[in-house]
Amino acid sequence: MDKTSYDAIVVGGGLAGLMAAHEIAVSGYKVAVISKVFPTRSHSSSAEGGIAAYIQGNSDPNDDPQYMTYDTVKGGDYLVDQDAAELLSMKSGEIVRIMESWGTLFNRQPDGRVAVRYFGGQTYPRTRFVGDKTGMALLHALFQRVSGLNIDFYNEWFALDLIRNDKKIVGLVAMEMKSMEPTFFKTKAVVMATGGMGMLYAHSTNAYINTGDGYGMALRAGAALKDPEFVQFHPTALYPSDILISEAARGEGAILKNNKGERFMTKYAPKKLDLAPRDIVSRSIITEVKEGRGFPGGYVGLDLTHLGEEYIKERLALAYEAALNFAGVDATKEPIPVRPAQHYYMGGIDVDITGTNYDLIGLFAAGEAACVSVHGANRLGSNSLLETLVFGRETGKTVVKFLSSANESSESLDKEAEKIVDEAYSFTKSESGVHFGVVLNKLRETMWENIGIFRDENGMKTGLSEIIKLREMAKNMYVTDKSKTYNTEFFNALELRNMLDLALVIANAAINRTESRGAHYRTDYPERDDKNWLKHTIAYLRGNTVEIGYKPVKITKWQPEARVY
Ligand SMILES: Cc1cc2nc3c(=O)[nH]c(=O)nc-3n(C[C@H](O)[C@H](O)[C@H](O)COP(=O)(O)OP(=O)(O)OC[C@H]3O[C@@H](n4cnc5c(N)ncnc54)[C@H](O)[C@@H]3O)c2cc1C
Repeated sequence: MDKTSYDAIVVGGGLAGLMAAHEIAVSGYKVAVISKVFPTRSHSSSAEGGIAAYIQGNSDPNDDPQYMTYDTVKGGDYLVDQDAAELLSMKSGEIVRIMESWGTLFNRQPDGRVAVRYFGGQTYPRTRFVGDKTGMALLHALFQRVSGLNIDFYNEWFALDLIRNDKKIVGLVAMEMKSMEPTFFKTKAVVMATGGMGMLYAHSTNAYINTGDGYGMALRAGAALKDPEFVQFHPTALYPSDILISEAARGEGAILKNNKGERFMTKYAPKKLDLAPRDIVSRSIITEVKEGRGFPGGYVGLDLTHLGEEYIKERLALAYEAALNFAGVDATKEPIPVRPAQHYYMGGIDVDITGTNYDLIGLFAAGEAACVSVHGANRLGSNSLLETLVFGRETGKTVVKFLSSANESSESLDKEAEKIVDEAYSFTKSESGVHFGVVLNKLRETMWENIGIFRDENGMKTGLSEIIKLREMAKNMYVTDKSKTYNTEFFNALELRNMLDLALVIANAAINRTESRGAHYRTDYPERDDKNWLKHTIAYLRGNTVEIGYKPVKITKWQPEARVY
């Protein structure tokens, strides 16, 4: 097997990965970015509505980073680590200014200041945007910036597994996707910036590449996931394709209506209405549909028509185009059909405020792959782009500090690397058994049906036993394509392995938490229970068993209070 060596490896070429790589590279360390797609095709590029930021002299005169932190803490149903949320708010203005100076052309107000729009759960409007293609604008600017640095890019390379010596990371194995040839990357530090896991659910706004590989790799290496039971569902995915209709639409004034033409959010969130946080709006839509006030097929309408054609086409161009091209609906004339779909993962690799994992020396994580935790039980819209950049940067700086004293492991662990590759190749060797696609589809349906928006013990236990069965079935998994050239089926099977590991952890943690908080809503335990559950779940995967422990939530200023909107 080929071997190469770097001071640090960043897995992931989205916003978090590129920002971390930037910090490491400018400090003169030898760093590589491994990404299974060309970096600008990462899911960050599909982010639409914007990036939250308090900008001194540019924000509402009544606003303050404290309010931003408070909104984030309350939005996250008090499971947020408040020191992390404070850092996020404090650094938000600076990061937007940096991205602006690197070439992101934010929309402007008539007087030249950076424009803002409201997003769900905000006391004052704070979301900065580039039309409704904000992620694309940020990622292209950042990629251009890092392209000038001394970073080796391994694009269309697939990271398989971490290699460690006892508790210390010594490298990872990755494969070139064009040839299926593996390489052992020796390194002192790995930053997991592998993004989310939406493909685990039958309905998701995520890209097909969001398969939770980083969570799987971290779990198998013995690192914990924090709060894995918290999965966000976005209320407005286009029916039936599940393409996201950004929260920006409601931020600009769009209204949700049922089949009677009623603005039903008046019932569920009398003050914040359509701009209540996502967990609340998603449950409201499902309730309307269940009680017979949805449209056939199970959706409601998102009405933009009163905003006017010119405004819609300028501010919400992507929403307009998606509705027209994928649902045949002209949003300037009639409501867009929408329903909830999986959107974001609040859980993630357990790291502290510096991006350092607690379990393995040399493992770091940033972006959606990590759980710092700034989002707690429910992320506020436009806080994720912000997190990728703020904590991508913090994590990069942490790695630089770590490298200044880390020494290279003398262990070569070639056997470990070979074992990883042999296991992976096994899918291409068998001719019979179960096709990976069968397992994948069943898994996605199971997660959607049983560990979705509304949860209860019976449903989740049914889901868990199905997941256990699917994991058994997957041992005899095969792929029909036996070629070595761009064998996408093979890599899909590897992704599925990560998804199966993650699913087991999510199901166990969700059954274990006997309360409702944020996106984890249990019909059998409908209340939040701060006495017993104001704590983070810490979950390890030991073979086929999930081991659950807890960590306290860091509270600096804001004691839990009722979450009403
Ligand atoms: C449709 C949509 C709209 C959104 N809109 C907004 C918004 O307006 N505002 C907001 O704040 N948030 C938004 N979000 C959320 C936000 O975009 C993401 O959480 C964030 O961009 C994730 O960035 P990341 O850098 O962590 O990961 P990503 O951008 O997802 O990048 C992950 C990277 O990891 C690589 N990778 C993964 N697995 C492997 C592997 N095994 N081997 C090698 N490479 C691997 C991929 O190639 C990719 O480069 C949106 C999300 C979606 C899906």
